[in-house]
Amino acid sequence: MLIGLCGGICAGKHAIAEYLIQHQGFQLLELTNQPHHRITDEPDDDLRLQASEIKKNGEQAKFVFTTADALVDFVTKRWQERWVTTDIADGPTLDRFLLRPFFLLVSVDAPVSLRWKRFSDRCWRRQLDPPDLEKFVLWNDRHLYQRDLGRVYLTDRAQVRLFNSSSSLDELHQSLQTLNLADEQRLRPNWDQYFMQLASLAAQRSNCMKRRVGCVVVRERRVISTGYNGTPRHLPNCNEGGCPRCNRGDGGGVGLSACLCLHAEENALLEAGRERIREGAILYCDTCPCLTCTVKITQVGISEVVYSQSYNMDQESAAILEAAGVRLRQFSPPSKGLIYLQQSNEPAASS
Ligand SMILES: [Zn+2]
Ligand SMILES: [Zn+2]
Ligand SMILES: [Zn+2]
Repeated sequence: MLIGLCGGICAGKHAIAEYLIQHQGFQLLELTNQPHHRITDEPDDDLRLQASEIKKNGEQAKFVFTTADALVDFVTKRWQERWVTTDIADGPTLDRFLLRPFFLLVSVDAPVSLRWKRFSDRCWRRQLDPPDLEKFVLWNDRHLYQRDLGRVYLTDRAQVRLFNSSSSLDELHQSLQTLNLADEQRLRPNWDQYFMQLASLAAQRSNCMKRRVGCVVVRERRVISTGYNGTPRHLPNCNEGGCPRCNRGDGGGVGLSACLCLHAEENALLEAGRERIREGAILYCDTCPCLTCTVKITQVGISEVVYSQSYNMDQESAAILEAAGVRLRQFSPPSKGLIYLQQSNEPAASS
């Protein structure tokens, strides 16, 4: 795999690259002579300091490329080894990398006060005068947000987003060990992830005012049907007043029998038809099925139900499915949100 690290000044991408190199068998790839490598007016000192950071422990890149294509071609032949680069500096280069199935873009961010402190410490170590906070903030704004050139165009597209508020290298290393960036499942969703994401995508089409739910019925790893909840055909959509009960805004589960909305599971089962739901069919739903859906699921011959979020009658539904011999399990896809690289809930130390 190839991990590309991007992020703000002193956010910690070089520290993370070093960890991957020293502890997880990654090798560093360097890309030089890039277009847009320089941000206008950015002090040379800053870039030089950043570039020299990674080399301070003799971690000099053995593999240096002058074009993104040469780097990608190199890794294509060796993608099962572990590679890391911190040199993706512009959108067109990133686009080339993102086409490949072995590439993972990881962004690293950190509080600006902490990044300024890290930058100042580094200046002291090199007997240079550190910039004051205001100057650092101005560099940082240009580095991240300068139109068409800023790093925010890269970090915005990261598949994994790390927030490096750790106060020491030890803490960072422990968090990275737990996180295991090298897990190849990050590159490609497994079947559960894939079908659950399809169910979540279906949920986005829902028009029900109470709750968006999506569902996918699968057999032999092929999608038979999809469904989301809402009013039946030819009736106004739920969010256009089609179901008075849903629009009343009563609590969850209240007045269910007066609801005109078909549930996502019902729609998916109706769409599939009993003929196509045979032994081994799996129903993926982003919410645990309600009681009425559960009896239909049981009757139509679904073999397994996989859900991601709980609903308010999970126990009752589980009891029916168990009695009927239908397997039930919860699967929650890995979070796409920000991951804190911090062991405790304490704010990052400022000492
Ligand atoms: Zn509704
Ligand atoms: Zn309703
Ligand atoms: Zn239901």
